[in-house]
Amino acid sequence: MRKRLFIFIVLGISLFCDVFHVAAAPKTDSRQPTAIFDAQRAFAILEKQCDFGPRPPGSAAHRQTQRYLFTELEKYADNVELQPCQYEVDGVVLRLNNILAEFGAKVVTGVEPIRETLLLAAHWDTRPFADRDPKPENQDKPILGANDGASGVAVLLEIARVLSLHPPPRRIVIVLFDGEDYGRSVDDMFIGSRFFAQNLGKWRPDYGILLDMVGDKDLSLPIERYSWEANREFTQAIWNRASTLGLAPFQQRLGAAILDDHVPLIKVGIPMVNIIDFTYPYWHTVEDTVDKCSPKSLEIVATLVMSIIYDGL
Ligand SMILES: [Zn+2]
Repeated sequence: MRKRLFIFIVLGISLFCDVFHVAAAPKTDSRQPTAIFDAQRAFAILEKQCDFGPRPPGSAAHRQTQRYLFTELEKYADNVELQPCQYEVDGVVLRLNNILAEFGAKVVTGVEPIRETLLLAAHWDTRPFADRDPKPENQDKPILGANDGASGVAVLLEIARVLSLHPPPRRIVIVLFDGEDYGRSVDDMFIGSRFFAQNLGKWRPDYGILLDMVGDKDLSLPIERYSWEANREFTQAIWNRASTLGLAPFQQRLGAAILDDHVPLIKVGIPMVNIIDFTYPYWHTVEDTVDKCSPKSLEIVATLVMSIIYDGL
C-alpha cells in the first residue's frame, strides 16, 4: 500500500451498478453462520507468514509463503490457481504469482444461488525495504509485514475455511496479489493487481473488497477516499453495515486517498472498496511486527466481510 504521491488519477467515475441493494441493516433472515470465524486461528496464520521472515519477491521466504498459501487454499476452495506474471524492474525479471481461489461453485440444496461474484483481495508479498523507518541504517532492510501483508491474508485464509464449511450463496473469489509493495516508485507497485485487472477472464467479479493493514491493535478505519469517489453508494453501504454491526473501528468519515490494489480494478470498471488502516505508525518500517497486531482486529474486519458474503449488501 502506498499513499498517493501525485493526483494523477482522476476518479470521477460514478458507476451505477444495480447489483447493490443498499440497505442500512442486514436482512432479518440472515444466512450468516455465527461464531465460526476463529480469530485465534486467523492470528496464527498471520504469525505463520511472519515465521517465514520478510517475503519480498525473489526471496526464498516468498517462494515458501506461496507454497504455504496455495496448499492452505487447496484444502478449502472449489478451485485454486496461480496466475503467473513476469515483470522487469531495473534489469531484474521478477516472477510473480497471484493466488486465486474460487468458492460457491457447488449448489447448496434448498438455497437459491445469487448470480454475482464477490471478490475478496489482499496482498501477500512484503516490501523489500523499510524506507519509512526513522533509522537510516534500517531503510534498506526488508520489512516483516505483519500488518502490511500478513493481516489481510490471515483474514481471508480463515474465511476460506469458513466458506468450505458453510458454502456461500454467491460466488466468492479470493485473490492474493503479488508484487503490491515492490518498487521504490508507484510505477513498480501494484504489479499483480494491475495484471489481474487486465486479465480478468473467468475471475471477473461484479464488485469487491480489498483488505490491507487490518491487523493493527489500535484499529482505525475511516472511509478510503478513492473507493468513495469511484462508487459512493457501494462504499457507503459497506460502512453503514459496519455501523449496524456495531464495529466501532469503522468510522463514518472520509479518510485519505490511498493508492492500492483496488485502483487498477476501479479503472477497469469494477467497484472496489479498500478497507485499510493508514494511521499505523509502523508502516514501511522494521517495526511492522506481530506484537503490533491483534486477533480482535482481524475478527472485527472478518465480521463485516462475512456479513456481506452471506447476507449481501
Ligand atoms: Zn505497504
